[in-house]
Formats: sequence, structure tokens, C-alpha cells
Amino acid sequence: MSDRLPGFSTLAVHAGAQPDPTTGARATPIYQTTSFVFNDADHAASLFGLQAFGNIYTRIGNPTNAVLEERVAALEGGTAALAVASGHAAQVVVLQQLLQPGDEFIAARKLYGGSINQFTHAFKSFGWNVVWADPDDIASFERAVTPRTKAIFIESIANPAGSITDIEAISTVARKAGVPLIVDNTLASPYLIRPIDHGADIVVHSLTKFLGGHGNSLGGIIVDAGTFDWSTGGKYPMLSEPRPEYHGIRLQETFGNFAFAIACRVLGLRDLGPALSPFNAFMILTGIETLPLRMQKHCDNAKAVAEFLAGHPAVASVSYAGLASDKYNQLARKYAPKGAGAVFTFSLKGGYDAGVSLVSKLQLFSHLANVGDTRSLVIHPASTTHSQLDDAAKIKSGAGPDVVRLSIGIEDKEDLIADLEQALGA
Ligand SMILES: *Cc1c(COP(=O)(O)O)cnc(C)c1O
Repeated sequence: MSDRLPGFSTLAVHAGAQPDPTTGARATPIYQTTSFVFNDADHAASLFGLQAFGNIYTRIGNPTNAVLEERVAALEGGTAALAVASGHAAQVVVLQQLLQPGDEFIAARKLYGGSINQFTHAFKSFGWNVVWADPDDIASFERAVTPRTKAIFIESIANPAGSITDIEAISTVARKAGVPLIVDNTLASPYLIRPIDHGADIVVHSLTKFLGGHGNSLGGIIVDAGTFDWSTGGKYPMLSEPRPEYHGIRLQETFGNFAFAIACRVLGLRDLGPALSPFNAFMILTGIETLPLRMQKHCDNAKAVAEFLAGHPAVASVSYAGLASDKYNQLARKYAPKGAGAVFTFSLKGGYDAGVSLVSKLQLFSHLANVGDTRSLVIHPASTTHSQLDDAAKIKSGAGPDVVRLSIGIEDKEDLIADLEQALGA
């Protein structure tokens, strides 16, 4: 073996995986078992006391899931990762390690609609208070910091308009405030953007989208960058204080630069319970093997479709950061030079009714609430994912009544354009 570091495509196929030691199976087997036999009583005690690493019970860890965790950690450049049942589960587990009731976190206003709901309602009931900031106005993050702020949460490429967030500028605010920066990297995937390279401390994904990539399996993952010092000022007691359930060990002291991933597993996943099925881990691992190929095709198709729409008379405007005229194009060139992703919005001169009519006329595009499938998808956010917001909030989050969101798949771009042409023209 040469001593060169493997490239991204090599890691996408190989990271974390080896031929199965007992059977020689080359693909990662699905370890469809709830539990694992201990060698002896001492081994069992050391596993439960966190003195040894190993498998206990699939709610806490599973060998198929472990390959997925190692692979995504490698692709993102993190120290460790934890796979969970969905992207939303990843967000709950992350914040549970960071916030006590009454604490605050700052979140970018432009987010996946489900995250806006989760933060506004469910997290509020836990006593975790979201404070919104505008990702296009870095000073609004600075102004939102208070002594109760425990984290900042942004999306790298933000839903629904595919806008690009200035991760480095917001990471500077987080450093100054002494809180970790959490980046939801779902729409970019590590093929386009690696947030840890730009100052993120924690990366979360909905694996359901581009990483799994085929619209067949829910999953989520948390990646620990290993960059944050959790011991400062007693602000993060889950990580810095003795844990009564683990013989008084302190996670930061014991696990160093992967303490956050451990906390998410042994305090979050163990107690909250959103474990990823090993079958889904297998499906998502298989998807990740082709991530670089798919993602490039997604982006190339998206650019062609965005250019077509920008020249169509029924279209009022197109928000795609890959277009030279787009207001996020500078940030796209800096953060996502291989492509600006495949999820974006455009607005129709005919407003709300034209949006509803378009989704009903498209044939190749599927009308559904998802992104990051091989298939091209369409949704009218104002009547669906963002319908719970009032009109002002819809517009602020990029989902005004005239806006249509596309997630461009990996079909032939000529067929996608022909479908849009007939639906817009008819
Ligand atoms: C889908 C999505 C989520 C939530 O993920 P689930 O797997 O559906 O729970 C979070 N963030 C973004 C950007 C998403 O697209």
C-alpha cells in the first residue's frame, strides 16, 4: 500500500468496512440481531461501565450501523459519528446533550420546514428555547447571543431555496460566544461541502436524503468534529460533570475529542431510544458508495433545469446559487465549487394558483414531500411543508405563496426540461 491518503470516492466505497472476519462476506452484512453475547461476566461489566468498547444491544450500537458511522465520519472529516433513526432524531439527540430546560439556542430562520416545527413546538415543550436569526445577516446571530445560549444551528445549503450559508462567518460568532456550531449538511452532503473544514463543531444529516439517495430508507447521523472544549465554565454538564449512571466518569475527560459522539450514544440514544434499523444502515451504506457520482449528476442536472426556468416567460424568478446572477453565487463558488446542490425554488408569475396547477400537471416529477431522491421531485411549500406558517413567516423562510421547490434527480436533463415545459405551457 502506498502512504497516500484515500480520496473522497475511495472513502465513499471503503471507509469503515472490511470483509466479514467470520464469513468473508465482502458487502457489509446486516447484523439483524437485538443483542450480543458477552465473553464472560467481567467483559459484560466492563462494557456496561464504558471501560471497553463493544456491542451490547442494538439500541446502543450495532456492527452494521458502526460501518455507516465510520464511513460518514471519514467523509465529513470528523472524529466519530452516531447513526440514529432519522434526521429529526439526530437533532433531538444533539441538543439534549447541550441544553438544560430554560436554555436557548440560536437557529437560522431558513431551515427545513420540519425543523422549524420541531424547534418551535416540540423543543419548546422541553424548555429549549429557539431564538431565530437571519443567515443573510451575520450580525443578527451576534445580537441573539445571551448567557443562556448553548449552541448555534444552521443549514449549509438551506431549505427550501438552496441558499448558501456563510459557515465561516457564523463559526466566528460561535467561537466568540463559546458555543458549538451545529451544521445540518443534508442538502449539500460532504461531497459538496465539508462544514468541519469551515469551523463546524457538530454536523448532522438526514441520511434519508442525498446520502441514502434512493428515497427508500429513513436515517440520521451526528458527526463529532472533535474541536470543541466541553469543560469550559460548567456550561455543558452532560459532558464535563461526573455521570452517576457510569460510575462517576466525566465523558470529556475520558473520551477527549470524541466525547460528544459518546455522549450522544450513551446518554442520548440509550435513553431516548431512536435507534437506526441495521437494515436501513445497509441500504444507506449502499447508497453512499455512489454518492460522488450521483451528487455530481444531481448538480449538473439542477443547473441545466435552473437555466431553462430562468429563461421561461411564466417564471418570475429562480433561486439557484449555481446561476451566475444569483445573490448566493459568490458563496457557492467559495463553499460548493463542484455544484450548488439540487434543491432550489422558483416563483411563478401566476402566484399561488399557478404553483398548485404546475404540480398537478408535471408527469415525470413526483409531487411529494422529500428531497434527495434519484427521482426528480416537486412540491409547493406554501400549501404543504410550510402551510403552518403565516404569510410573513412563509416569505421570510423562502416559501412564499408563488414559490415552487424542486429536488432534481439523476434522470436525463432533457426529459426533466421537457416535462417542465409542457406543465408550464399548457
Ligand atoms: C429531511 C430533513 C431533515 C429531517 O430528516 P428526517 O430524516 O426526515 O427526520 C432535517 N434537515 C433537512 C435539511 C432535511 O432535508
